[in-house]
Amino acid sequence: MAASRRVFVITGPSGAGKGTLIRELVERVPELEVAVSATTRAQRPGEEDGREYWFLTEAEFVERIAAGDFLEHVEYVLGKRYGSLQSELDRIAGHGRVCVLELELEGAERVEREIPGAVTIFIAAEVPELERRLKERATESTGEIGERIQLARRQLEQAHLFRYMVRNDDVRRATEVLVSIVETELEIAATMVDA
Ligand code: 5GP
Repeated sequence: MAASRRVFVITGPSGAGKGTLIRELVERVPELEVAVSATTRAQRPGEEDGREYWFLTEAEFVERIAAGDFLEHVEYVLGKRYGSLQSELDRIAGHGRVCVLELELEGAERVEREIPGAVTIFIAAEVPELERRLKERATESTGEIGERIQLARRQLEQAHLFRYMVRNDDVRRATEVLVSIVETELEIAATMVDA
């Protein structure tokens, strides 16, 4: 399998620090590029359309489902939709880079089934730490934080479904582990191409 067809899927509960770890990871491994998902959730302060997400209305999202534009899509917290766009995977492959997707668990499992070269990595953190990060971020309402924390408890029990698990109790250490997993997998993919 060509290295550029490899896909890394970073999954785990809200507040586990996936976004921070992905930023560190792509800085350290230049052949990676993050796919921008589409969502119907509200744009948070500081977010830009086309950078964190493509922010779509419900009608636009449904239209794109009908057009077959999504590799996978889900309804998540409070019925908001999230989906990975096939066009993002094509764009990244066009740059000769390897795609990184940040997905909740259901989407991660689906991508693992659909793309044989997908490598899934679950980012875990202790519940009190998740709660602290979500409250610190304070971008969601109290009700939504509660829903995300309840969901996180259930999600932590599903870490075993994924290829790797990285505990994010310390960002520096977790980054090192993540980088070494990704570099090892890229090396394996390159060896398979050469063979
Ligand atoms: P947030 O609203 O905090 O940005 O994201 C909520 C959750 O949606 C996160 O766990 C994130 O990984 C997940 N997510 C973001 N984009 C996608 C996507 O395209 N598909 C799926 N299945 N999950 C996504």
